[in-house]
Amino acid sequence: MEIAPLPYPYDALEPYIDEKTMRIHHDKHHQAYFDKYMKAIEGTEWADKDVKEVLENVDALPEDIKQAVINNGGGYFHHTFFWTILKKDVPFKGEVAEEIKKKWGSLEKFQEEFSDKAKTLFGSGWTWLVVNNGELEIVNTKNQDSPISLGMVPLLCIDVWEHAYYLKVQNRRPEWIENFWNIVNWEQANKYYLER
Ligand code: MN
Repeated sequence: MEIAPLPYPYDALEPYIDEKTMRIHHDKHHQAYFDKYMKAIEGTEWADKDVKEVLENVDALPEDIKQAVINNGGGYFHHTFFWTILKKDVPFKGEVAEEIKKKWGSLEKFQEEFSDKAKTLFGSGWTWLVVNNGELEIVNTKNQDSPISLGMVPLLCIDVWEHAYYLKVQNRRPEWIENFWNIVNWEQANKYYLER
């Protein structure tokens, strides 16, 4: 089975994410997480459940499939989410923007803290803006561990696995993070904030 297509053309985020990276990231990496996730839950009571519901309940999973579901269900869900919060030329506004300014003082201060968090994540993982216990927070998760499993509501995120940026900027993760700020879909992040 094929995963849903990207919600925009592969080159829609150029020059900040190149077309080739998007093709490999979506068609190969994202697809592979989905395939392995489906294989892990096949024939279990979890097979017909929404992946979000499964990730919210990882503690209830049988031990023999638990880690495979965390890794691959996480990888499947996180990428689907990630594509939705990327778009060029979206202004920073809405309730979420107001809350960010309230908490961090300015967009720039927020970006600084978020970027530092993403730069210093050791190995592979994601940096997130989440709502946790009613508060905005910046958190890192390792590998494909999900903030969903910790009861948090994600609003936006950056993929800091090397496959997200290596073709374009090689080992220069800070450059990838700089590029990311040009393609944050604040309108979608605001929707997630209002739905929390
Ligand atoms: Mn990825």
